[in-house]
Amino acid sequence: TGFAALGITGNLLKSTVASGFTEPKPIQIKAIPPHLAGRDIIAIAQTGSGKTAAFSLPILTKIIAIGAKRLPKTARALILAPTRELAVQIEDTIKVLAKGLHISTALVLGGVSRNSQVKKMQGGVDILIATPGRLTDLVREGEVKLNETRWLVLDEADRMLDMGFINDVRRLSKATHPERQTALYSATMPDEIAELAKSLLKNPVRVEA
Ligand code: AMP
Repeated sequence: TGFAALGITGNLLKSTVASGFTEPKPIQIKAIPPHLAGRDIIAIAQTGSGKTAAFSLPILTKIIAIGAKRLPKTARALILAPTRELAVQIEDTIKVLAKGLHISTALVLGGVSRNSQVKKMQGGVDILIATPGRLTDLVREGEVKLNETRWLVLDEADRMLDMGFINDVRRLSKATHPERQTALYSATMPDEIAELAKSLLKNPVRVEA
């Protein structure tokens, strides 16, 4: 299929196709190859463009390649999103794409009980999807550690800016592994987001779809 040509292989390719993703969308065609190649990415992409699979399939590929070795309270990949609804949606998409592949995910969101979130993080997870406020709290309390996080996605960065999360995003990003790979997705590119990208991304590839 088209996803094979982009570099998605094996059981992940099978589960992707089985979940009805047969032909890649433009953002996926543009973002998946540089993402798989290890490049940092700035993507201008709208809601509904298929951006979730664009950043999730490469991260899943890399996590599957490493195999299981999670450390307590850590996350191998972190996806920051502006709202609870979007975070839940991202986790749902990842669960569908990675069905049967033994990938662990967790949500850290404001407005709901933190106990279950803390508990879920105890053994560590492959992919953490979080809103910046609550994650900042849990990192400060030592319940979540980001020092092993080597893949970082800032989804809908412009909305995180509008919601006043930019300092949390900056601090959380800086708490991740120094050799992380970073992808920033945004529908618009105001100066503050361009500035954030400049400080957090290394020699990024710019894609738009
Ligand atoms: P997103 O922009 O990531 O929220 O995706 C928007 C919608 O498109 C979601 O319902 C996805 O499940 C769906 N979608 C994304 N990529 C594909 C694809 N390659 N084939 C079919 N559906 C897709």
